[in-house]
Amino acid sequence: MKKITCALCLLSFIIFNCQGQNGTENTGEPRMDWEKYDPPSTLIVPEHQVTRARYPFIDVHNHQFNMPNQDLDDLVEEMDKLNMAVMVNLSGRGRGSEEHLKGSLDNVNKTAPNRFIVFTNIDIQSINEKGWTERTVKQIESDVKLGANGLKIYKSQTMAVVNGQRVTIDDPRIDPVWAKCGELGIPVLIHSADPKPFWSPHDENNERWLELKLRSRRKRSDTDPAPWETIIAEQHDIFKKHPGTTFINAHLGWYGNDLGKLGELMDRYPNMYSEIGAVIAELGRQPRMAKKFLTTYQDRVMFGKDYWNPEEYHTYFRVLETADEYFPYYKRYHAFWKMYGLDLEDEVLKKLYFKNALKVIPNIDASLFEGL
Ligand SMILES: [Zn+2]
Repeated sequence: MKKITCALCLLSFIIFNCQGQNGTENTGEPRMDWEKYDPPSTLIVPEHQVTRARYPFIDVHNHQFNMPNQDLDDLVEEMDKLNMAVMVNLSGRGRGSEEHLKGSLDNVNKTAPNRFIVFTNIDIQSINEKGWTERTVKQIESDVKLGANGLKIYKSQTMAVVNGQRVTIDDPRIDPVWAKCGELGIPVLIHSADPKPFWSPHDENNERWLELKLRSRRKRSDTDPAPWETIIAEQHDIFKKHPGTTFINAHLGWYGNDLGKLGELMDRYPNMYSEIGAVIAELGRQPRMAKKFLTTYQDRVMFGKDYWNPEEYHTYFRVLETADEYFPYYKRYHAFWKMYGLDLEDEVLKKLYFKNALKVIPNIDASLFEGL
């Protein structure tokens, strides 16, 4: 009996010492890190590459920072290849000047008046200056007269710190600005906070681990500048306070990974719309839930992309239009998983691509979508 026990002890000692640091078998093979492991799929299934959207579409979330001096003919040529009928440039004021806005609008009017919509921007950093509210309301009025058709609020503005003190986006000094947008009939597209994992520990449990490694300045914490839930709730606060103003909650309000919750918010705030910029990988990993959501809220969600890279639109089209399975996404730091097509109904697709934007954003040329 004693001999058997000793033999067992020896055996477990040997097994233990043959395990690597993480309990993996030490076979003498070199270890490979997770970032490197990205094998092409061997799955053979029908594939439908979509380089051009099935219907002409409006991209409600785009940034062109050099619009006054840009060759817009070149841009229109790229848009035509994708079947993008209208691009909404949210950065009408560039880095913040009226001159830039005028230049953008002039260039559009000269080159392709019905292919671009331009939003204006405001300055939150100067909010403590005397007369800020009055001045900013006047600016909105005048920018709309010049030809702006909406207001964009940047994420930096929902996380603003002025003289060491946080200025929240539901600050009462900004209230008259939201009210004015409602009165003028222009929507406010607001990007609040960032994906929630940016606030989580940077470890093996974080889905955005790679992004935070490559873009470490995106890391946030409960004190930098505030908890994620707080910043997100502050924007909901203004939706509630201003039911007469239309808000486009950018990037699915960062609830693309919790569409049940996003649906609750849709029900609670009838003046809240949304768009899918930069979050197609969230929809593409839950095709059944996402299709159900986009069908239920078909009158409330618009097409957006954010970063202008024509090739990346193809993945959006493929996720929305096809029933393809397990195909690659283009940016591993957003998603280490594969995509599945949602195969949206035609009517849902048309609303997402252009009908909802036509309803929410003024002065888009509806003749571009005639007969559809
Ligand atoms: Zn944006």
